[in-house]
Amino acid sequence: MGKSDIDGRFALVTGASKGIGRAVALRLGEMGVHVAVNYNSSPDQAAITVDTLESQGVEAFAVQADVSDLGQVSSMVEQVSKRFGRIDILVNNAGIISDSLLVRMSDEAWDSVIATNLNGMFYCTRAVVRQMIRRRWGRIINIGSVVGIRGNIGQVNYSASKAGMIGFTKALAKEVATRGITVNTVTPGYISTDTVDVLPQKTKDTIMTWIPQGHFGEVDDVAHLVAFIASQKAKYMTGQIVSVDGGMAI
Ligand code: NAP
Repeated sequence: MGKSDIDGRFALVTGASKGIGRAVALRLGEMGVHVAVNYNSSPDQAAITVDTLESQGVEAFAVQADVSDLGQVSSMVEQVSKRFGRIDILVNNAGIISDSLLVRMSDEAWDSVIATNLNGMFYCTRAVVRQMIRRRWGRIINIGSVVGIRGNIGQVNYSASKAGMIGFTKALAKEVATRGITVNTVTPGYISTDTVDVLPQKTKDTIMTWIPQGHFGEVDDVAHLVAFIASQKAKYMTGQIVSVDGGMAI
């Protein structure tokens, strides 16, 4: 008996060196999925994710690539496909913020956020979808944000990147629907991670007033949802934008 109905499948999780990406990688590992752990600048953190996955009894390795760089993405997907033989599940999780009001936003802040969050998803997905089409099975799961739905002051770049992900999801879901491939986006609210934990208390107090449940989420709240979408149980679900945000998008 396998650990789950996707036991033995192969995943690539971008930005899996920490935070939500690591939690997703570990949850997939618990389900018997072998995981390629992408990271950009945190090899030590990526090594921790890999060690934990190996202790769960699945194959895992770290693969460095900046997802905003087409050449690096191509080489990453080549390395993973060679080592695993295939990629069944792609989780586009890598993402950054570079906040400021629009009037003060630099070209660099705009370009870097769009390049990582939106171009990165495009490069990674295009690089893996062909092999999924050939095998007639695949899961593409994007990590969006509640901010792509509601908008947020100081985050026009981030909101645009995450809103773009929603259109991409719906369009691609239609393109590959008959090929056994589902494409969905999970939109977390505020989840306790390095990025959120360091916010000033005053900002946290304001954010709390937006969240009906009155507290931040945990990385596993997101990871469990991603794991469900990756599973066979979610085979009839595609093109969906699913919030996990304590009610913030209501
Ligand atoms: P995090 O703790 O800052 O982790 C970000 C991850 O993305 C790291 O593993 C980082 O790798 C990787 N990364 C960043 N730029 C990259 C690049 N150019 N190429 C490859 N990897 C890159 O962030 P998080 O809070 O877990 O967020 C993960 C995702 O969830 C993001 O897409 C974020 O927008 C989304 N999200 C988070 C929240 C939240 O409340 N935390 C809410 C909504 C949505 P290195 O450290 O190795 O560079």
